[in-house]
Amino acid sequence: MPTTAVSGSASGIGAAVCQALRAAGHRIIGIDREHAEVIADLSSAAGRQAAISAVLEQSAGVLDGLVCCAGVGSSALSNTIVAVNYFGVTELLDGLVGALAKGHEPAAVVIGSVAATHGNPELQPMVAAMLAGNEALTLEHANALEKSSVAYASSKYAVTCNVRSRAVPWAKQGIRLNVVAPGAVETPLHQASLNDPRFAKAVREFVAPLGRAGHPEEIAQVVAFLLSSQASFIHASVMFVDGGMDAMVRPARF
Ligand code: NAD
Repeated sequence: MPTTAVSGSASGIGAAVCQALRAAGHRIIGIDREHAEVIADLSSAAGRQAAISAVLEQSAGVLDGLVCCAGVGSSALSNTIVAVNYFGVTELLDGLVGALAKGHEPAAVVIGSVAATHGNPELQPMVAAMLAGNEALTLEHANALEKSSVAYASSKYAVTCNVRSRAVPWAKQGIRLNVVAPGAVETPLHQASLNDPRFAKAVREFVAPLGRAGHPEEIAQVVAFLLSSQASFIHASVMFVDGGMDAMVRPARF
């Protein structure tokens, strides 16, 4: 039975991932702020280290899968967004890569976002700070931002680049790693944006070509596929699961 750790397991896409993976025969070690096998706050370095230690203890140091799904949306504070969505992912990847290297056909998935391609986040100085692993400088940039949506897009862009930078070293250790980039998906995070007067109109009007938001299960099925042996040649890819949003926004670029 494969053992897979899933962050953000208590809600939305992460909960659906756990359900899909359990149905596929995985033992799940969920990581979340509550209702999980490992209770931890991924917004702080201490919380991330506590999560890593608990996962290593519960898995006896061997993982077959890892899904980094925990995240906060644009309605959160900018400094929380970068702390959870970037450092809460990359530190889990760093802390658990050794356990994955000992697993059977190990694979990992990071949940990014179609927002990573919106508004040129690559030009944001905070992206360079994130990619340099400098959390203090990233938080400084985040605190100076007017729009938390910029922090969100930047965190998802940077985390996607971080995954791509692992293509060679992780392959050398026999571990596949991919990004799933969802569009709008009906979860509490999405609902929080719809309830936020700063974003409600834009979120309501930004509809995918398929004419609707996705369901968490539609993302979870792709994550389960990417962790399975059926995806054995898919590595360091970014898979948009967005009802066509990315192609709609930038039809002539990819
Ligand atoms: P959600 O709010 O339903 O679930 C997020 C989970 O992450 C929650 O269980 C929450 O407790 C956990 N989490 C948040 N901060 C944490 C922290 N500091 N420590 C530990 N756990 C923490 O949201 P969701 O929509 O299922 O989001 C899952 C992922 O999907 C996120 O990374 C999000 O950015 C991404 N995403 C969502 C959408 C969407 O429209 N829902 C679109 C693109 C990407």
